[in-house]
Amino acid sequence: MTDLFGHIRPRRSPRVMMHAVDSGLSIRGKSAAHFRCTRCGRDDGWSEIPPTSTALRRGLPCPNCNGAGDAQG
Ligand SMILES: [Zn+2]
Repeated sequence: MTDLFGHIRPRRSPRVMMHAVDSGLSIRGKSAAHFRCTRCGRDDGWSEIPPTSTALRRGLPCPNCNGAGDAQG
């Protein structure tokens, strides 16, 4: 008997997100947020983001922790 779900694995481990530790306006008057990764400590400083961005709530994927495409460990 075929197990429909037996062979399905998550495609990737959950992505590590950098979270906005602060938000406001950039010096150019655009929406911006300060993103930091709580896992590796990566701090990208302030980045402009689209006003409609969900990044403020969801965060941004951390390039360090997500390996930028190559496997870690
Ligand atoms: Zn990280």
